[in-house]
Amino acid sequence: MIRERAYPVEPWHVRETRLDMDVLAQSESVFALSNGHVGLRGNLDEGEPHGLPGTYLNSFYELRPLPYAEAGFGFPESGQTVVNVTNGKLIRLLVDDEPLDVRYGELLAHERVLDLRAGTLHRELHWRSPAGREIKVRSTRLVSFTQRAVAAIDYEVEAVDGPLRLILQSELVANEALPAQSRDPRVAAVLESPLQAEEELTTADGGLLIHRTKVSGLRVAAAMEHEVYAPGRTTSQSEGYEDWVRTTIGCVLRPGETLRVVKYLAYGWSSRRSLPAMRDQVEAALTGARLDGWDGLRREQREYLDEFWDAADVVVEGDPEIQQAVRFGMFHVLQAGSRAERRPIAAKGLTGPGYDGHAFWDTEMFVLPVLTYTQPAAVRDALHWRHGTLAAAQERARTLNLEGAAFPWRTIEGPESSGYWPAGTAAFHIAAGVADALRRYVQVTQDTDLEREIGLELLVETARLWRSLGHHDRHGQFHIDGVTGPDEYTAVKNDNIYTNLMAQRNLISAAEAVMRYRDEAFHLGVTDEEAAAWRDAAASMHIPYDEEIDVHEQVEGFTRLQEWDFAHTPPEKYPLLLHYPYFDLYRKQVVKQADLVLAMHWRGDAFTPEQKLRNFLYYERRTVRDSSLSACTQAVLAAEVGHPELAHVYLREAALMDLHDLNENTRDGVHMASLAGAWIALVAGFGGLRDHDGNLSFAPRLSSRLERLEFSLQWRGMRLRVDVRPHQTTYALRHGDPGDMLELRHHGEPVRVTCEEPVTMPIPAAEVSGPAPEQAPGRAPLLRLPESEP
Ligand code: BGC
Repeated sequence: MIRERAYPVEPWHVRETRLDMDVLAQSESVFALSNGHVGLRGNLDEGEPHGLPGTYLNSFYELRPLPYAEAGFGFPESGQTVVNVTNGKLIRLLVDDEPLDVRYGELLAHERVLDLRAGTLHRELHWRSPAGREIKVRSTRLVSFTQRAVAAIDYEVEAVDGPLRLILQSELVANEALPAQSRDPRVAAVLESPLQAEEELTTADGGLLIHRTKVSGLRVAAAMEHEVYAPGRTTSQSEGYEDWVRTTIGCVLRPGETLRVVKYLAYGWSSRRSLPAMRDQVEAALTGARLDGWDGLRREQREYLDEFWDAADVVVEGDPEIQQAVRFGMFHVLQAGSRAERRPIAAKGLTGPGYDGHAFWDTEMFVLPVLTYTQPAAVRDALHWRHGTLAAAQERARTLNLEGAAFPWRTIEGPESSGYWPAGTAAFHIAAGVADALRRYVQVTQDTDLEREIGLELLVETARLWRSLGHHDRHGQFHIDGVTGPDEYTAVKNDNIYTNLMAQRNLISAAEAVMRYRDEAFHLGVTDEEAAAWRDAAASMHIPYDEEIDVHEQVEGFTRLQEWDFAHTPPEKYPLLLHYPYFDLYRKQVVKQADLVLAMHWRGDAFTPEQKLRNFLYYERRTVRDSSLSACTQAVLAAEVGHPELAHVYLREAALMDLHDLNENTRDGVHMASLAGAWIALVAGFGGLRDHDGNLSFAPRLSSRLERLEFSLQWRGMRLRVDVRPHQTTYALRHGDPGDMLELRHHGEPVRVTCEEPVTMPIPAAEVSGPAPEQAPGRAPLLRLPESEP
């Protein structure tokens, strides 16, 4: 955990004012730059010291066997693992006779700043070498949002004293040695030297490397070029070997003079393209980058982000840490998805190797709802990616003797890569997440072309899965048995409410879509009988309820299971999955992460307010939040059931997950779902946004610490701005045509907003909401409310 406040609170920057070697790996994740296609961890320019070197390309993976001590039918035999590709960030420096290495000599100043509006990572250091020579280095790095294959570094060295002889070595390095990983199942498998050299090439001012993976057969090309600016004579030469290419630049500087090198990087990968084609591709990308030049790339980056923030910014007054954190989170969410272009959005984005670079349901249920309202084009691409994996999901369903499509619990390119089926394959609910993300995207954008082209098929194939996975009992009730819901401490059980309610909506959405696209549905072989069977299943979906204590059961029989012995579970035994056998977790009332509570958010239309409150209180006492996907949902429901102060502390936990390294594993990459969750906690929690039936509704109500919350939502080409104050909320519409109107509900009351006139509505007084929620003993929220301003 980053205990001291590591980054000063600023609205648009994440600044590190001194280099702390103990949290180097965490800061590399926090400072990672990406555009969804290329990802660079925030490693120091000179490569060492490092926590975890990392350069990733979306969907560039190697296959590795998934060995089982006791295999079973249908167990996946190989898994996909993200590969650390050729490192192009490296710029080493020799100052007279000493390599710049912050572990030696004196580091007089060191600062790194992630600029959320400029989209750059800036670093400044002032170093005195062991021999007493002083330099200042200023470097700025970006991964371009506008040219997706391109990254660039502006690197400047100033001689403080002198004359100084500087030798700058800029490199591309493949097969870097990686530190050994722990046995924590959440980290990645380490692949040793996964890349086989195919070609190296040097030019006067750069070079390229082409490699291929051994088993997956993917080819990666990385290229670099440099522009050099120096006052006097410089020497420059490049040399290349199998796994590295180096351009060496030498010069002598007098005090106050600077050497500036702009390094352009281009990456590409393919499973099909030939070596010459890959070579041409990256060289062309470099030409594109140089055409714009450093200033052009920076300008485009800024313009891209200005546009994004105009549509997506969230203003928070009353908790400056949250203001910073929500923008930081949105920035990473954008980085993960903006140029992914029909490739997955992984649980860690491209910020680290955690979870082997896999995408989970996190994408559809946490990241895509946020992007749907802020950057819908990224959602369109992500849905195309899922659709592109449909054949693998259909094959998986066949293997499991099911119909339709069984989407993988974890994957990069489509095949199931989870070797632990109780918390993998059995988590069928991911199918409903895909359907829900699609439904929401179409509702918000009215992109009926996408719905017709791929949406219908996704809905039909997921509905088929549910129909074949579930069954009607002799009373006609529909059950989905033997599945795992979001709570991975309760596995392979009957009638998980979250799964059932999400499947219910999936079945109805599919039946409705079939009515809208009759011809296309006919081509998919859907008959009237089949659609009627979906409706029947949805109408008779079983929802377990314990009449005696008046709460819903997360799964059938949950409330009569043995209670977990929290009193004898010391703090160091969390997360429980690392200290107790699953066998024990599965048979007791202990909840890893919001499950029924998540159902009450996304299927809130299926519960009464009284049920929500009772359920919330019951499950709150049993939820340990061993997953970072929990706090944001607990914030949403705490706000809804009338506990805004609790909602606020959960918001803080979700939003500050990585800036404070709360789960002590930010080193492996940021927690994308939790970062997206900060937006969800604010907008769905304090803003009360719901979109159950295709209509927008809000129930804004702030915590006592918040003075203002303002957010924007994209809605059918228009932008709705919602400005929440303690006693009133203003709804304003932008980007629409005169006469455009948006109908929404505010605390249940219908409101019409036009582009001409904002509407201000009072916030009704909160109703008293019963007893204060209690957490499981020892599992209070990790952070407290912010200190009040003096
Ligand atoms: C959670 C899952 C999540 C995965 C990846 C696990 O700890 O329980 O719900 O999908 O992490 O973030």
